[in-house]
Amino acid sequence: MSPTGRPAGKSGSAAPASSPHIIAIANQKGGVGKTTTAINLATALAVLGYRVLLIDLDPQGNASTGLGIDYANRRAGSYALMAEDRTVNDLACDTQIPSLSLIPSDNELAGAEIELVDMERREYRLAEVLSPAEAPLAYDFILIDCPPSLGLLTLNALVAAQSVLVPLQCEFFALEGVSQLIRTIERVRRAFNLTLRLQGLVLTMFDRRNNLSELVAADARSFFGDQVFETVIPRNIRISEAQSHGKPAHLYDPKSSGAQAYDRLAEELVMRTRADPPRAARS
Ligand code: ADP
Ligand code: MG
Repeated sequence: MSPTGRPAGKSGSAAPASSPHIIAIANQKGGVGKTTTAINLATALAVLGYRVLLIDLDPQGNASTGLGIDYANRRAGSYALMAEDRTVNDLACDTQIPSLSLIPSDNELAGAEIELVDMERREYRLAEVLSPAEAPLAYDFILIDCPPSLGLLTLNALVAAQSVLVPLQCEFFALEGVSQLIRTIERVRRAFNLTLRLQGLVLTMFDRRNNLSELVAADARSFFGDQVFETVIPRNIRISEAQSHGKPAHLYDPKSSGAQAYDRLAEELVMRTRADPPRAARS
């Protein structure tokens, strides 16, 4: 990632605006911590000073609800973005975190898997709006919260992204399905998106008191080596409480082990993507 940090839309500056780093958060298993990671990692990156956009691509809309936008208050969102040629700037809404914007899941997204099938360039709908030809979007990171399947919505996310972050729940069968996901990433890379890579795997809901958590973590590390993030997200009730209050853990209880783990994960991600320091730290 090259230097970023100019305000949105400002023209006439010497350096060209750089493109956002687009990360799909995917795992076809449900309940592994995708949405929780999307909300809290996006928040932690924004708190570090980066300009972040979170796109809720799951028809269940848990990332939208978890950031305080409940079902009844949803306007046009990620469905309109992919199916109705609306722009990111048009659809992004503010959140309780100053430099975090959200494109919520809208109520029509549930039908999108089927409707997209008949659309032109159906695999590229999201890629095209996230990398507009005119000028890059004014974000440092765009995180995409994927649904628990490898259908057309997730495919759109993988075609739009530069990398894939895979949450792994420290539970029985955690690694089951990961090789299928990795094969899918390979196929998408060959067919649609040559620059796609695995960003890494994140161990979630780690429970110190449970031997199984240690076993899953050791297994994942012996199999995937340093593709597994060093930061481990603990099982922490404050994380799920925060979601039910429509807040990221960082706002609900910044001192909780969960919020602090996501802060560390953001720092590790920045290091791994070698992102430039955010604007505040640069001036
Ligand atoms: P996914 O998006 O993969 O389906 P979620 O992020 O929605 O998974 O997580 C599934 C459930 O587990 C949610 O109820 C969430 O609040 C809870 N959860 C996720 N991560 C943690 C954690 N670290 N500690 C406690 N509960 C968690
Ligand atoms: Mg989810």
